[in-house]
Amino acid sequence: MLPKEMIRRVFCIGRNYRLHAQELNNALPEKPVVFLKPKESVFFEGTDIIHPGCGRDLQHESEWVVRIGKEGVFKQGESAGDWIDSMTLGLDLTLRDLQEALKKKGLPWEKAKSFDRSAPLGDFVPFNPELSLNGITFTCHVNDRLRQTGNTGAMIFPIETCLAEISRYWRLLPGDIVFTGTPEGVGSLSPGDRITIASASIGVFTWNIV
Ligand code: ZN
Repeated sequence: MLPKEMIRRVFCIGRNYRLHAQELNNALPEKPVVFLKPKESVFFEGTDIIHPGCGRDLQHESEWVVRIGKEGVFKQGESAGDWIDSMTLGLDLTLRDLQEALKKKGLPWEKAKSFDRSAPLGDFVPFNPELSLNGITFTCHVNDRLRQTGNTGAMIFPIETCLAEISRYWRLLPGDIVFTGTPEGVGSLSPGDRITIASASIGVFTWNIV
């Protein structure tokens, strides 16, 4: 398992799948939407997901997550495979009721997206250059029922466009990770639920919600 100390900044891409943007009644973005979570929000398997008291509707967003292996500015036209050293799946946990309230007021999303334990991550696996970054599939089950199916080929902005957009504002550093957006099918989690995210090319990761 990659130690948490090897994670630097946690970048997240929002609204990167058409049907997910539509299910939340969001317009399709013209550029990648970027937000951050503090690295302290990250945890791994073996630690439960806590339903926080600061919002009512805790929702799962299952996402493909990549880790950056070198420092510099990523430019459009480069290959993301030269920059990614490992990958995993993660959950961009979101307090949807709070996010809707903040969105209506035009306020930042941090309280809804970046609270403690908002970023459970699977184990990172080394980047495999044989793997097409536009063909990684993954699923999200809650209590053994399928909630989400993703394919990175369906991302509105491929990973290269996301890295180029992040690089316009932040010089990439080794250990930065990027949540790449969630497909449709996001839904609520309650104490007692069990969530599993899985990908044939990455692994299977499970958490209990308490
Ligand atoms: Zn997300």
